[in-house]
Parts: sequence; structure tokens; C-alpha cells
Amino acid sequence: MFLDLFKSKKRRRAESQTFVVLDLEWNSAYCKWEGRFLNEIIEFGAVKLDGNLREIGRFQCFVRSQLTNRLRGRFKGLTNISNEDMRSGISFQEAVRRFTDWAGEDTVTLTWSNTDIHTLVDNLQTLMSRKSIPFLYRYADLQKYVQQRLGVTGNQISLSAAAERLGVDFKEYAAHRALGDALCSAELLRRTWVEGGLDPFLVDTTVPDYYARMLFKPFVVSDLNSSDVDRDKMRVRCPDCGRYMKKIGRWQFVNGAFRARMRCPRCNGEFMGQVRFKKYFDHVAINKSAHPAPPKEKAAEETVKAE
Ligand SMILES: [Zn+2]
Repeated sequence: MFLDLFKSKKRRRAESQTFVVLDLEWNSAYCKWEGRFLNEIIEFGAVKLDGNLREIGRFQCFVRSQLTNRLRGRFKGLTNISNEDMRSGISFQEAVRRFTDWAGEDTVTLTWSNTDIHTLVDNLQTLMSRKSIPFLYRYADLQKYVQQRLGVTGNQISLSAAAERLGVDFKEYAAHRALGDALCSAELLRRTWVEGGLDPFLVDTTVPDYYARMLFKPFVVSDLNSSDVDRDKMRVRCPDCGRYMKKIGRWQFVNGAFRARMRCPRCNGEFMGQVRFKKYFDHVAINKSAHPAPPKEKAAEETVKAE
């Protein structure tokens, strides 16, 4: 009895879940006031699915460029979107407003790789001075999910390659058009669906640091005096005996890492100890290694070159 109640509650919750599979087409255009190129969104396409992945709605619109009158040849060739299509579109502001109304609240948004989300944030910031995506609640990178389900590691798999692996005819959809790609992506979600499988990929975008974290670009720390450099963690072990070595030379920043000549107090071997600090949004990753030290004169030459 209790179990039945629990089950039905769970089922109801799953069925009330709405998925929005979104795809965008963008054209690179020069933005004068920013002094850089922007991947300006020219088409929105999306399909809405219920908790059983049945289609319950579609969205498509063209966006009139604010930056250019003419689309790039490559974009036109890839998408078959003409300058006339683009010029017949609505403003980006209006497209975002309509899409937000159509998508509704508390949805799970899915895109094939997170580049569309990054482009969207860039467009919202540049063209509307908005810092967040108004229709984004929970989000998952569908490419990551499908790739895991297919057991593909390493390079990111393209939508067409994933479709082929799953026996979906990519050409049946209007390929490289927003709605076609969204419909194809939705079909890949159906083919790979497993209860709870998407859960590890879901990100709550309503948490305060979601956008800061998303936009943060990890970098290698090159300043030895940076607060990201923990001097206590710069000790390097001897590759021969595992003892901590004594630093006998000055730290130099070479090829993305701090390097210094070191000597092992036990076996007396000399090595170039190497420590690399990589700064991520909320942590610093440290990578250490030791390599055979070049002869002294050669090391001195290197120092001169570095200066
Ligand atoms: Zn040693």
C-alpha cells in the first residue's frame, strides 16, 4: 500500500517534468561597440517533450541581425538560411521574450554540447545587458549524456555521428537548422533514455555562482607571488628514492610550470623539480614532476635565455 503510493507519486513527478531541447544557429559578425566578433544568434529552434519524452510543442524563429545586413557565406552554405530569412526575423529581444513564454517554468533544458548556452549568455550580455538566461532552470549537456550512454570517450562526438551510431537518419531532419537539429537531438534522447540516467548531468542554473562558474576560464598561474601559489606545496620528491628534495636553484617559469634545480639529500641526485598550478573556479590543481637536470653550464645558459 505504502509502496504503491510512493510509486505513483514518483511516476506523477516524472510525468510532470518538461524537457526543452534547444538548438541555435549563429553567424559571426563584428560588434563595433565591443570591438570584437560576436557569434550572433540568427535562429532559435526547439522541441518540448513531456516526462515520457513525447513531443508537446515546437518553436522556431529567425532573428534579425543587429550587427550586419549580410550573413557569412559559410553560415549560409551550412544552414541554407538566406539574408532575406534573417531580415524577415524578429529582434533578439523579442525572440528571447517569445521563447521564454513558450518554454515555461521549471523545465529541463537540453542542448547538444554547451556551446549554445555560452553563445546565448554572450548574446544576452552584449545585446541586452542581461547576465543570465531567463528561461534556464535545470540544464543538461545532451552531448555528454549521449556520449556516456554510447560509451564514447575522448573527443566530442558530433550530432550526426551520434545519430548514425544510434540508427537515426540525420538527413531526415533539416540538418544544421535549429529545429531540425533539436528534433534529432530529442530523438537521440529517446533512443538512449534510461530512468534516472540523466540525473548526474543535471545542473541547477539558479544557484548564485552558476554563471560565474560557467564563464570562468581555467588558467595556468605564472606569477610566483600570486595568492594561488601555495609555497608549502612546492616541494618535489626525488624520482629515485621518493624523498623530498632540497631546492638549490631559483624558481623559473618555463613551459607553463615553475622549475627549479633540486638535489636529493639521500641519493644526492640532481633534478629539475617542476610544479604547475592551474586555477579553476573554486580550486587550484597542482601537478608535480621531476626530470633529469641538465649539466650545470647548460642550465646557466638556459637561465640567460629566459631572462
Ligand atoms: Zn633520492
